[in-house]
Amino acid sequence: MRKRDYYDVLGVGRNTSKEDIKKAYRRLAMQYHPDRNKSPDAGEKFKEISEAYGVLSDDAKRQQYDTFGHAGIGERYTQEDIFRGINFEDIFRDIGFGFGGVDSIFDIFFGGRRRYKTGPRKGADLAYELEITLEEAASGVSKKIEFHRTGVCSTCNGTGAKPGTSPKACPSCNGSGQISQTRRTPFGHFTSITTCSRCRGEGKIIEVPCTVCGGRGAVQIPRSISVKIPPGVEEGSRLRIAGEGEAGERGAQPGDLYVIMHIKPHEIFIREGEDIFCEVPITFSQAALGDEIQVPTLDGRAKIKIPPGTQSGTIFRLKGKGMQSMRGYGRGDEHVRVTVKTPTNLTDEQRKLFKQLASLEEKLSEGVFSRLFR
Ligand SMILES: [Zn+2]
Ligand SMILES: [Zn+2]
Repeated sequence: MRKRDYYDVLGVGRNTSKEDIKKAYRRLAMQYHPDRNKSPDAGEKFKEISEAYGVLSDDAKRQQYDTFGHAGIGERYTQEDIFRGINFEDIFRDIGFGFGGVDSIFDIFFGGRRRYKTGPRKGADLAYELEITLEEAASGVSKKIEFHRTGVCSTCNGTGAKPGTSPKACPSCNGSGQISQTRRTPFGHFTSITTCSRCRGEGKIIEVPCTVCGGRGAVQIPRSISVKIPPGVEEGSRLRIAGEGEAGERGAQPGDLYVIMHIKPHEIFIREGEDIFCEVPITFSQAALGDEIQVPTLDGRAKIKIPPGTQSGTIFRLKGKGMQSMRGYGRGDEHVRVTVKTPTNLTDEQRKLFKQLASLEEKLSEGVFSRLFR
């Protein structure tokens, strides 16, 4: 069906003021609101005029419509955007806000009593704090975790009713889940429909509750699951495990489990993002003469070459020996900082050799010192 021009729908001209558009809409809304107008197409008609009003009452939407027509509205707004932009309270205020309130208006637009039903709730999410080592974080690991969560009560199968009994129709709403109230206003009788507060719209109540779960339909159940931790997780990383949270109320969807990662401090490595750092001591002679030394890595030992004349504090990089990137771009690096250890508690022999070395150094550095203390 071709969409009618919004101005025609409201029966107004293209230059009609906002105030007059509102008046026109209000008159038509009273006429076609399905709570008042029982003809079968009243709902559709009410929707059509409301959509037209939703566009023409909003400066930005009206301008978009004037310039680009229906296509221009369609590419920028959803129907819901348009309806949600309407201030219904303002429109219907002086008739005592009849028509069952804004909720009932949205029921007409989006066809869902279910939208507003407060019935069984989705289960709550759970959090589990898990500590792992840096090595486990580097390689990824599977961990078994145990916890308690609310689960469906097996005695009543989650209905909440004592076995042998069953939930009965709610006496407040006669099982419909809705309460309708008729109110008299200067414009006539209006019927408003609201969700029944006693059964929260479910239409059923539990008369004899299950003795095991007290009518909640849920009990605490121990649970043990295996969690696969991907390589590269960081302190505070959260892993979501869908459906492992608390059971929902009476058959509703369960919540999720969040495993929050904690990484134990490592005795050798310090981590910074994808890189790891460590410090390795070397001797005077290794620093002076050069050597090949073994250093720890996350996957065992590796060798690095210390060139002759290495200064204390020099950093050597082991490419790709860091942590796995969580974003999947390979691994970070390991940075090894060598520190030259000054020997203490010298043996007689060492002392002799150092003294020889010292007298040699004195001659070699005379030039340097004479320049320093000139
Ligand atoms: Zn039960
Ligand atoms: Zn009820």
